[in-house]
Amino acid sequence: MRYTSTRDKNVSVESAQAIAAGISADGGLFVPVDIPKLTLDEIAAMANLSYIERAKRILSLYLTDFTEDELDWCVSGAYGDGKFSSEEVAPLHELREGEEILELWRGPTCAFKDMALQLLPRLMTVAVKKTDGSRETVILVATSGDTGKAALEGFKDVEGTRILVFYPVDGVSPMQKLQMTTQEGSNVAVCAIEGNFDDAQTGVKTIFTDKAIGEKLNDNGMAFSSANSINWGRLVPQIVYYFSAYCDMLKKGKIKAGDKINIVVPTGNFGNILAAYYAYEMGMPVNKLICASNKNRVLTDFFETGVYDVNRDFYTTSSPSMDILISSNLERLLFIAGGCSDEFVRSMMSKLKEDGKYEIPSEVMQKISALFSSGCCDDEGTKRTIKEVFEKYDYLCDTHTAVAVEVYEKYLEASGDNTPTVIASTANPFKFSASVLEAVEPCKGDNLDEFSMVSELAKVTGACCPAQLANLRDKEVRFTGVCNRDSMEKVVFELLGI
Ligand SMILES: *Cc1c(COP(=O)(O)O)cnc(C)c1O
Repeated sequence: MRYTSTRDKNVSVESAQAIAAGISADGGLFVPVDIPKLTLDEIAAMANLSYIERAKRILSLYLTDFTEDELDWCVSGAYGDGKFSSEEVAPLHELREGEEILELWRGPTCAFKDMALQLLPRLMTVAVKKTDGSRETVILVATSGDTGKAALEGFKDVEGTRILVFYPVDGVSPMQKLQMTTQEGSNVAVCAIEGNFDDAQTGVKTIFTDKAIGEKLNDNGMAFSSANSINWGRLVPQIVYYFSAYCDMLKKGKIKAGDKINIVVPTGNFGNILAAYYAYEMGMPVNKLICASNKNRVLTDFFETGVYDVNRDFYTTSSPSMDILISSNLERLLFIAGGCSDEFVRSMMSKLKEDGKYEIPSEVMQKISALFSSGCCDDEGTKRTIKEVFEKYDYLCDTHTAVAVEVYEKYLEASGDNTPTVIASTANPFKFSASVLEAVEPCKGDNLDEFSMVSELAKVTGACCPAQLANLRDKEVRFTGVCNRDSMEKVVFELLGI
């Protein structure tokens, strides 16, 4: 299996190089040249496997330059040893017949990012050994909250790596902030930046592709890589859980082999839903992929009109991990839908850079619309949905998941489409206690600090706060730095001591 760049088809590398580098030198994203296919029989056969075995099966199709032993070391280390609070790793919870919640937050940091970021450091370690064994890998992360913590936890004390995380100073929840600023480990650093997630992401991308900075690192035996979902090593682990969900539905007799399902994904950077798209391209029977956004509805507008336009207000919402205007992974969908044309992607991306918008041709849009549906939901709708889901189904969901549930309800009402549906649930509700408590018991949390809010939420709902969140209360804050976008480069050098 070879990988090429969305912006230069002359690029041809193996998966180890794609993962070690993170992003292609031309600024494009690595994509597999061919998408491997599975037959219905092959998919059905996975129903009898454990999550770890399913993961090895899918990964072996993409990471063909990894040996079986290497894959086993990566996958068993990531998902074994009780690291996830469910033996199934990513279990399904039935809300009602035909509506399943896929719980992707059972990992150590209580957000779906763990699904990929428990695995990525291991993939990276093997990949660097294969490509350039001697260098130290510097992981640079821009986070809207959850990636930062999950990456810190995944990379902490991993030999041969250092990790630096930038987060928007007012753009994360108190719990998310505490999770990052109290991070343990000898190779980790965290810094707030004045600005929003897009500022952080743009800053990181700029540092990443700056030749002079790259040379300076090289002189010091270091090289950057990325743990953001622009790295193929983040995406490929995410394909697994969609197959796993399909297999679990088969196993429980909720569908028959060949039956289609809908998948609803609360979306920010377009990584999670893109993984579902890959599962579809690989042969998983899918009717609709439903892209759910919050008030930052740039993707909803894109799917409705074919115009991607970031010239708009940016909103800070109760689902902060989706407060994004530039969804990086859409580039990979454009590449495939545009007939694997690097020229097409280059022209769209240069329009985005120059005008902050682009419009894709109607024949490409038709292809996309046949599979994708979309919708958005503001903070009021999010709140109402959390309450409704709790009262109707006795299930407490977080703000991001609520956005997806609400968008699905509206889709169902408008389309009457009764296809069995999987809704990706991306965070534990206690990560966003203030918003969730306000939804189920308005005003109960007024004037309470974060941990009193957690106790109150547990009390009024009977739900239990995961220990790794509850224990943050007594942890020492290690990182208090704040910088602006222009000083990010300086901060990176300082933190690396070069
Ligand atoms: C990252 C994140 C999302 C968005 O996922 P993308 O892959 O960026 O689209 C949604 N919900 C939560 C809780 C997240 O952490």
